[in-house]
Amino acid sequence: MKCCACGAEKCDLVYHYPAPAITSLSSILEVETRVYICSACGHMQSADLPDVQKFYDTEYQISLTSEDADQLYDVVDGVPVYRTQYQAGLIVDFVDLPKGAAVLDYGAAKAKSLFRLCERRSDISPHVFDVSEDYRSYWQGWVPKEQQATYSAPAEWNGRFDLITAHFVLEHVREPVEIFSDIARLLSPAGRFFFSVPDVLGNPADMIVVDHLNHFTRTSLPVALDRAGMKIERIDTSRLRGAFVVVAVLKQASEKVPGPERAAVETEIRSLNACCESWHTAENLVATAQAGSAGKKVAIYGAGVYGTFVYARIRNSGGAVCFVDRNPHVHGRDHLGVPVVPPEALPADVGILYVALNPAIARKAMADLGLDRREGLELVYLS
Ligand SMILES: [Zn+2]
Repeated sequence: MKCCACGAEKCDLVYHYPAPAITSLSSILEVETRVYICSACGHMQSADLPDVQKFYDTEYQISLTSEDADQLYDVVDGVPVYRTQYQAGLIVDFVDLPKGAAVLDYGAAKAKSLFRLCERRSDISPHVFDVSEDYRSYWQGWVPKEQQATYSAPAEWNGRFDLITAHFVLEHVREPVEIFSDIARLLSPAGRFFFSVPDVLGNPADMIVVDHLNHFTRTSLPVALDRAGMKIERIDTSRLRGAFVVVAVLKQASEKVPGPERAAVETEIRSLNACCESWHTAENLVATAQAGSAGKKVAIYGAGVYGTFVYARIRNSGGAVCFVDRNPHVHGRDHLGVPVVPPEALPADVGILYVALNPAIARKAMADLGLDRREGLELVYLS
């Protein structure tokens, strides 16, 4: 497989799991999971989905997280902070926007982050672009018609934008360098390109979700941007959980940006391999627990990607009586046909609880809830 970041034919298959696969929206697809690492630049990528179009038309609609409601990012002093609000705040923190700036949300979908940005900065001139017509109704009333584009951004927009944003877009595309090049065409000479993509090392769940075709790394991001005539001005992994926040700018025509150092690429590759290994470990721990679970009631803590991963592996041998999740938006609903309940409603006769959370926080989460001390309850961790 060719690397879609650096273009080298140097990708090794590092993880393979037969069907079923998990999507980023915590649904199950009956396809294989294949993940590759490029030994030249340290990019990780997943095999194409067999029918990407069908996936985005149908599968994307049906999972828990596809609700129209804005995703909750955090609760600060009892006040909910929504993801799009948070993203708009990051833009203001990371980019010094000139007065009256022309701003384009690339791959905008409903363009809620741009809407939030306009609330904070009424002087900016909002533009939206998406490959679908589906979102027109969300843009009406606040984005002038001539500042909306679908399928391709018009040539009149070349060199226009002081800021282009792309929130969690690039992980879904097969040819990210083509998208970066298109964005470079639209940026003004001093413009900024602000984007976010998952950081697989900060959020290991990103590795197994099959609709994320790209898993960018510290070494592959600059390589992919360089091929599109851009370079990184700022990169951050602390402000948005499990993600890279990147600000890129156009390179000068004559400017040569050195590629990543060999040692850095190798460090990256070692960490990625460890991530693959952790998923094999998780599979083994689930299989072992399952073998010893006969006659016991089983529940899964976490109705997200990790919970779906566990469910997909135990569904043919009894499944689970419920998912347990702290997110109040999912209580009283079904996930994969199984009810989702709050921690306090975990039935007393459940004997095995799979702790399907990011392993970095799993043990503490159970201790905080006192579930690690509950009589007759065996906790199964994924690490
Ligand atoms: Zn590469």
